Amino acid sequence: MNNMALSLTEVKKLSGESLTQNDIEYFRNRYGKRFVRALRVVEEKKVSKYQFRPSETAIWIVRGRARQYMVIPRIYCTCRSFYQDVVISREINMCYHLLAQQIAEIRNLYDLVESTDAERRRMYVEWRRTD
Ligand SMILES: [Zn+2]
Repeated sequence: MNNMALSLTEVKKLSGESLTQNDIEYFRNRYGKRFVRALRVVEEKKVSKYQFRPSETAIWIVRGRARQYMVIPRIYCTCRSFYQDVVISREINMCYHLLAQQIAEIRNLYDLVESTDAERRRMYVEWRRTD
């Protein structure tokens, strides 16, 4: 099982109309501050899904404080924490952007941006740049 995916129990909790105090406690115990940050960016509508045509592929963008991060759901994020804490040190199973993407998708709280594959290729060139 992919440990970057939320469990069914977690998905169920997040699907509810509003999160109970118990739910929030549960997620905070499990994900700490990352959950709070993820929930905040979702509520601030900082998560977007780019849907490209004609390939029908999609990528997600989470706008952080300093810049935007590209998220491939349950697989990858372009942020430094993903590289350092998830891939290299394995201290955590996902960064808050990966968490935010799943919360946004489950709660249907994201901007949908329709775009073209030509634009997608242009975006990938941008993302490949390291800073
Ligand atoms: Zn990230």
